[in-house]
Amino acid sequence: MIRFERVTKRYDSAPGSEGDEAAAAVDDLTLEAPTGKITVLVGPSGCGKTTTLRMVNRMITPTSGTITIDGRDTASLDVAELRRGIGYVIQAAGLFPHRTVLDNVTTVPRLLGTDKKAARTRAMELIERVGLDPALAARYPAQLSGGQQQRVGVARALAADPPVMLMDEPFSAVDPVVREQLQNEFLRLQSELGKTILFVTHDIDEAVKLGDQVAVLRVGGILAQLDSPAKLLADPVDDFVAGFVGRDRGYRALSFAAAPELSLTEEPTVRLGATADEVRAVGRPWVLCVGDHGEPVGWVRAAAVESEVTRTLLHRGGTVASTSGSLRALLDAALSSPSGRGVVADDEGRLVGTIRASEVLPAIETRRDAGTPEGATAR
Ligand code: ADP
Ligand code: MG
Repeated sequence: MIRFERVTKRYDSAPGSEGDEAAAAVDDLTLEAPTGKITVLVGPSGCGKTTTLRMVNRMITPTSGTITIDGRDTASLDVAELRRGIGYVIQAAGLFPHRTVLDNVTTVPRLLGTDKKAARTRAMELIERVGLDPALAARYPAQLSGGQQQRVGVARALAADPPVMLMDEPFSAVDPVVREQLQNEFLRLQSELGKTILFVTHDIDEAVKLGDQVAVLRVGGILAQLDSPAKLLADPVDDFVAGFVGRDRGYRALSFAAAPELSLTEEPTVRLGATADEVRAVGRPWVLCVGDHGEPVGWVRAAAVESEVTRTLLHRGGTVASTSGSLRALLDAALSSPSGRGVVADDEGRLVGTIRASEVLPAIETRRDAGTPEGATAR
């Protein structure tokens, strides 16, 4: 556990500036980041997130207050020893441009005295684990995409197997599609590794997706609210937090509500390659098409099929919800389906049935009447 106890940081005021005391970058912060969990610090630019993070590995010294890791005061530890236990990932990966991917990942373990062969073996494992092709190990950072560089940055931070990870906007510099992949990989990795993570972002969607708990900071480094993502969206403590968590928070909060047992409607289907006659025999304007393993592949407009159902005829817009997914995913499947019938599949990806938005809404209402479940964890 990382514990901040009444931590304040004031940078020295610039020479010639007014006033005898600089404004606080972090103001009287008390916060616990539990072992094995992801604690996200989120807030607008300049609210003291980076300062807070860097005080943990003593790149910045607090003006007052104490930071402990597993009960040990970080100020009393040898800095090198302290940093050995802490992985640090920053925006744009911060890779050494003149070293290969492999050398970037092995740098820290080599500095720590791991022999070359063991460090390389471990590095190759990590490179695969963060979802990179091992063939990229021989490349230089400039030869990789932004998303690949970020993965290398994560692999490098994990190389010394530190119990604590500090991550400062690690996914901010990549495009939204790659960011989502990195987030998903990161959650998968964390479910295996169980590190104690302090994760900084200015993006509230990223915060509620990744955080076991989320700390919202306001400018001046003041903690506004510390709660589970579900609680934060459902019950912001003040106007600042309400404004920061955003307008469609009611809808987004459904991400944390597991889909209840709903009665799904059986959906008549056709296979790819079905003839126009087979499609018309279903007798519906939109017909669901499934693949060889019963997996839904898309809707086809019956009137558009001239000879047979081909992939190019399939409607691309609809999402598929999972029986183990969230209410948000169910509602989204229904709303995005051209037929109005949301497609639901099991964990193996096989079609289970369909559901309309009007059938999802009562489940949302029931949940409201029962109160937001505190332990809801579906992502
Ligand atoms: P964030 O990461 O949330 O954007 P920072 O922790 O970087 O915020 O900065 C918090 C505040 O401290 C800002 O007002 C910033 O201008 C100020 N600050 C950050 N670093 C320094 C520094 N080295 N010297 C003086 N002021 C700083
Ligand atoms: Mg910052």
